[in-house]
Amino acid sequence: MLCCNDPQFEVWHSDSNSGLRQPKHVRLMADGVELCNDVQLVEWQANPVQVRLCPECWVSGCASGGYVDVTRLGDRVLWCPVIFDEVDDFARHRYRLLDALLEHGGAFFSSTLWEQWHKKFNIIPAFEALPQMRRRNAMAVWLAELRNACGFFSTDFLLDRLNEQSICSMRSSLESALDVLTRINHWFGEALDRPIEGSLVRSSALKAQPEEIYVETEGTPAWTPYLQRGEEIFVAFGPDWVIDRAVPLDES
Ligand SMILES: [Zn+2]
Repeated sequence: MLCCNDPQFEVWHSDSNSGLRQPKHVRLMADGVELCNDVQLVEWQANPVQVRLCPECWVSGCASGGYVDVTRLGDRVLWCPVIFDEVDDFARHRYRLLDALLEHGGAFFSSTLWEQWHKKFNIIPAFEALPQMRRRNAMAVWLAELRNACGFFSTDFLLDRLNEQSICSMRSSLESALDVLTRINHWFGEALDRPIEGSLVRSSALKAQPEEIYVETEGTPAWTPYLQRGEEIFVAFGPDWVIDRAVPLDES
């Protein structure tokens, strides 16, 4: 997850065919990446939201890609990848994540910042009007990070592939780590549209280290999918961020 501490709006001018008038746009930048090419033209009420618009006609939906699910969790706004039926090639191409976020899996902002933006640009919805983060959104971030680490993305064969390709885990036995993953994956899948409670906090706030799972592929990358503290399991997004409400693994 890209933690956007100091995002900036920038005014820029797109090329105009007339040569006389160059339309003015306001883009959103964070850490040198463009998160949105015109915040005033985005259809923020749509679901999912296309934040990178076609730079020719600026109509939402004209171009493929550049989509996010805009959600809130605790006091943060999270831009998550859209989760889709993986056998649907059209959807996979159409709703793919904003390119600038592919290596991060998603991005988040503080609610304070978001409220300032709402006041500045009325078209940006108020924080409270945003949908709550759902299990499907958390799963989408989780899988995007897995894809970045290991190159695979499918939910269908996720656990089979992890079983085949995982080499070791850092903080518990591989067997027990895979068991936890199975349970989290089941928790996501059994109620994809159920809102998630809690907040996104630094892993260090829970005073425990996230689990790292190493996968047998080029470079032997690590994936950090959860943090275990005693019997409690927390969903992790990379080594630095976790959802601070334990996953209730024993109830449905
Ligand atoms: Zn267009």
